[in-house]
Formats: sequence, C-alpha cells, structure tokens
Amino acid sequence: MYKAATVITEALYRRVVGEQVEKMSELRNTDIIYVTDLVACSHKYHLRRKYPELTISFEPSSVLGILLHKGLEEVLMSEGYEVEKSIETHVEIGGNRYILKGRLDAYNPNTRLVVEVKSSRSSKDLPREHHVEQLNIYLNMLNAESGILVYITPDKIVEYSIPREKIDLKNLVKNIVDDIIHPRYSWECSYCIFKKMCTYYVEEQKPQ
Ligand code: SF4
Repeated sequence: MYKAATVITEALYRRVVGEQVEKMSELRNTDIIYVTDLVACSHKYHLRRKYPELTISFEPSSVLGILLHKGLEEVLMSEGYEVEKSIETHVEIGGNRYILKGRLDAYNPNTRLVVEVKSSRSSKDLPREHHVEQLNIYLNMLNAESGILVYITPDKIVEYSIPREKIDLKNLVKNIVDDIIHPRYSWECSYCIFKKMCTYYVEEQKPQ
C-alpha cells in the first residue's frame, strides 16, 4: 500500500509561490508597468493592482513551464548567454513617470541576440502575435536588431527569428494607463483570472 508524500511538492510550493509572494508589493505599485502588460488587456493591469493576491498560482502546467524555463536557461548560460536579465526604461504620461520593466529569458552580450522562451500545451497558430510583440518591445528597449522566439510544446520545438520593428512605446503605455483596450484578444477573457469580477468580460464567440 502506498502512503501519500509531500516532500517535493512542498519544495516546489515554497519556491514557486514564494517568488510570487515576494512580488506582491511591486504588483501594487502604480508607477510600475511590465512589458507583458503592454501585450495584454489593459483592464487586467488595473484589476491586478487592486487584487494582486489573486494572481498567485500553483497550477501544475505553470510549474512545468517554470521548470522548463529554468532548464533551458541553464543550457543557454553554458553557451555564454545572460539569463533572466532585467531591463527597464521610463515613460512619461500626463506628467507621471512610469517605470517600464521587462525580464529577458536570455541575452547574448556579444551578438546582442535576445531569446524569449515559451512553453505551451498546444503548437497551434505559432508564433503567437502577443509573443512576437513582447519580443519586439524588448528589442526596441535595447535597440537590438533581432531576437529568437522559441516554443517548446509536447510535440514541437520550433524557433522564429524576429527582426526589430519600430514601435511607439509611449502609446502602448498610454493605452494601459488610460485603460483603453479590454480585452485585447477575443480569447483573452476565457483564460483571465479576473473574469468573474470584470465589468468588461466578453464570452468568446465560437466559430459558426
Ligand atoms: S475578463 Fe477580459 S476584459 Fe476583463 S480583465 Fe480579463 S481579459 Fe480583460
């Protein structure tokens, strides 16, 4: 007869939930906007600032994604990449100064190549628009020429070379601050942790 154990789960819980808890006060900070906010529904950013604890997750699929990132980052480190590199810039909107923060999965300081890693359960519709946009924002912030977007799914490992395209960062930040685009994608509300308390929630239309 087997007996239940929690040794490894507790260790994962301490690490994964602990890291999220550490970020709680930063999530409430009205001056900080993340690059990932710029490629998502603007209202999500506002709800997250009010209810940051609701973002804490210990879902097996996200734990798997975190572990995959850590594994690949170790491989890239041995290839000369810097991993989990924080970058930031300042953007002024209506007399307020916002800090735009991002974290690169990997960056090669010699070639200036930025690497963004995505794990996914599905390999449909790759590369995804918001992932390309996220990488492009990093490229604009660093003034780097190009980046690699790599997907690891249960049945595929594929990567895309993404060239920098000029974007108006200030306008993207303004859309978030003024809460202009909600949701940004038709599928977004179905996956949103705030959907039960959101005035702008829209049910995804199924194809006819
Ligand atoms: S439920 Fe939809 S509109 Fe509301 S915050 Fe989430 S993604 Fe945005």
